Amino acid sequence: MSSNYGHQFDLAIWHLNHEFKPDPPIHIYTVPLPVLTKYHGSCTVGDATLSRVRIARGMSIERAVDCLVHEYAHVIHLRENPTARIEHSDAWGVIYSRCYRAVFD
Ligand SMILES: [Zn+2]
Repeated sequence: MSSNYGHQFDLAIWHLNHEFKPDPPIHIYTVPLPVLTKYHGSCTVGDATLSRVRIARGMSIERAVDCLVHEYAHVIHLRENPTARIEHSDAWGVIYSRCYRAVFD
């Protein structure tokens, strides 16, 4: 998989996938910035086959990886807690910290 942001971004994806081994896989896309006017990333957790993260293009690599880690944590959280109502709950935070360590430690 190769992204708009290059090696550092792709390596972050690799570390996240290595940590969580999502099955089915999470699809990561970079999209033109105007698609995401308010937020710079978004995610969808659909049926068992379709989970995707969208990250806006045109940011710094640091910001892009931050967004990736944040949105990836949402996908893992929603897969584990399909009825979760609070977006940034304590449970999400625990998963986010695992994502953070996988990429930045
Ligand atoms: Zn969020």
